[in-house]
Amino acid sequence: MDTKEIFKVTQIEKNTYRIWELGGNYLTLLLGTEKAMLIDTGFGFYNSREIVERITDLPLIVVNSHGHLDHTGGNYLYDEIYLHHDDLETYSHYQKEKGLMIDTMKQRFDKLKKDYVWPEDFDKDEYVSQKTKKFIFMEDTKIFDLGNRIVEFTKVPGHTLGQMVAFDHKTQILFSSDAVASNLWIYYDEGISLLDYCKNIEKLKKYPVKYILSGHLDTKFPKRIIDALQATIKARSAAKSRVFIHPRNKHKALLFKYNTENIKNFEKIDHIQHMNLIYAPSLSTD
Ligand SMILES: [Zn+2]
Repeated sequence: MDTKEIFKVTQIEKNTYRIWELGGNYLTLLLGTEKAMLIDTGFGFYNSREIVERITDLPLIVVNSHGHLDHTGGNYLYDEIYLHHDDLETYSHYQKEKGLMIDTMKQRFDKLKKDYVWPEDFDKDEYVSQKTKKFIFMEDTKIFDLGNRIVEFTKVPGHTLGQMVAFDHKTQILFSSDAVASNLWIYYDEGISLLDYCKNIEKLKKYPVKYILSGHLDTKFPKRIIDALQATIKARSAAKSRVFIHPRNKHKALLFKYNTENIKNFEKIDHIQHMNLIYAPSLSTD
């Protein structure tokens, strides 16, 4: 397969790239005058490092926004990776589920008669055995200076315990990963309560955000998506939600769809009709 079909590189601002990886993940590449930064490594079925090195030869800092496999699968391609220590357990858990994830994805693609998102000569055992060479753990706030470019990471527990969100002071883009988007998963056992999550995203409002880019969508969200998430969480109830079964681990969750027209003083964002909240029943307070 042509690498153009596997990785689609878009320059969104000066020295700022999004690398879309086949399967639906965005990797972010930021260039300073002295260093470059890659946020997330995707599934890692293909070599993202080659793509990065075509764009820059600056020394590279690699950060995982959180421990899920669609953000850490390509870690083995890089020498060292920054991760919040609260997500090490999540990372390790997903490492163990790698084989199961491949099997579940394969079943889904077969059913939909869709092409696989890995190469024809893909070796599942080899993929499952690939490991992160070295982790460096981040505190709740971590500031990186790439040279005339400050990138500030802050912990926003919810989607995972150690979920980090990055504010790029240069472009004023907030790279929210899976913490803020029109779709939110607060699902797994390592998650926290929905009300705690609401408080945690509140602190993102202090940043002078131009727009927000999440981990899997190409929508440029305005800052008010944070208010929309908070309104969605307040409006949710188990009675208004439907049961959602996770295709891989069969965990039961609830899906609450909230029409953005219900949100007071809310100007519609792009094509976003609904906010989608997937949450574990145990996290529901009603
Ligand atoms: Zn995730």
